[in-house]
Amino acid sequence: MRPFDYARATSVRDACELAAARPGAVFIAGGTDLVPLWKDAVCAPPAVIDISRLSLDAIEVRDREIAIGALARLSDVADHPAIRADTPAIADALGASASGQLRHAATVGGNLVQRTRCSYFRNVGFACNKRAPGSGCAALGGDDRRHAIFGASEHCIATHASDLAVALVALDATVDVLGPGGDRAVAIADFFVLPGDRPDRETVLRPGELIGAIRVPRTALARRSRYLKVRDRASFDFAVVSVAAALHFEGAVVREARLVAGGVGTIPWRLRGSEQALAGARSGEQAFSAAAARASDGARPLDRNGFKLELLRRCVRRVLDELAGGA
Ligand SMILES: Cc1cc2nc3c(=O)[nH]c(=O)nc-3n(C[C@H](O)[C@H](O)[C@H](O)COP(=O)(O)OP(=O)(O)OC[C@H]3O[C@@H](n4cnc5c(N)ncnc54)[C@H](O)[C@@H]3O)c2cc1C
Ligand code: SF4
Repeated sequence: MRPFDYARATSVRDACELAAARPGAVFIAGGTDLVPLWKDAVCAPPAVIDISRLSLDAIEVRDREIAIGALARLSDVADHPAIRADTPAIADALGASASGQLRHAATVGGNLVQRTRCSYFRNVGFACNKRAPGSGCAALGGDDRRHAIFGASEHCIATHASDLAVALVALDATVDVLGPGGDRAVAIADFFVLPGDRPDRETVLRPGELIGAIRVPRTALARRSRYLKVRDRASFDFAVVSVAAALHFEGAVVREARLVAGGVGTIPWRLRGSEQALAGARSGEQAFSAAAARASDGARPLDRNGFKLELLRRCVRRVLDELAGGA
């Protein structure tokens, strides 16, 4: 038994101050990611700040955006009528995340900050720069089937795990960060950081900062959006490859396109080549094939995950066909 300090926050400010005063402190919300890691000794926080009782679980539908409190449960967000109507990619992504039981306990804030599913990271018997900086990376030269084809470094090749994050990047969401030094708004595209030589750092959150809410614009682009997830087993699993897509049409012409992939990058990966192939093009076979072909631009496959390139191209094609079918 390792001793640790526990405190239950009574307000957001209290949470930030409690965390800032305790070096190495972590927040606990639903506990569905933190507790398993803690039990397996992947982490050993000296202090835990319980934020689960804070009033941060509202889903507020405003004129131009939907604000989702960080403590909203995945199931409540997935089932919310405005989320389903205005941001279907989010409803799809959450509906395909974890199991029903987990979705009732897990929060959206915790979902964004969850750690990678790299099996070497989660097993303390292996070297891992993300868990123990400077110790090496057992995945390099190991079983890299589930690992990244985009954004990897020589220090870490692990994929980002959150389905929700992929949909949020496609829909230009903003993360409201609350902290001891003041509050700030961070575009979701800037929230996650590439591994580089410090794979232990995964987000721009500073010590003592917590996510208060996620704001998603209510736009024509977001209304025509989808999330397609391919996984090894249907009951529940993380993405092998996933794609969030959003299209804004003017007549038959694609005015704006967003394509972001999951399961393939060290962070949610924007498929800019595919987006370029679609912008200004007439919706249809030719444009969609061109977009699919460019989905793997810049990919760097590893020994066992070359199959992800073709799978990604096919996912892009399928999700575009589905979106256009609803046009
Ligand atoms: C079996 C299983 C299957 C899963 N499948 C999927 C899946 O298919 N897709 C998917 O996307 N996810 C999946 N998950 C992950 C799951 O969605 C996350 O565990 C969950 O969303 C984390 O939320 P939580 O409230 O339980 O976070 P916690 O476990 O309480 O916290 C996780 C991390 O987030 C931090 N944190 C929590 N809240 C905040 C906040 N407001 N601000 C800042 N930091 C915060 C904590 O300090 C901790 O570091 C799965 C998990 C399990 C166990
Ligand atoms: S890929 Fe990253 S998370 Fe996995 S073992 Fe290597 S350093 Fe650790």
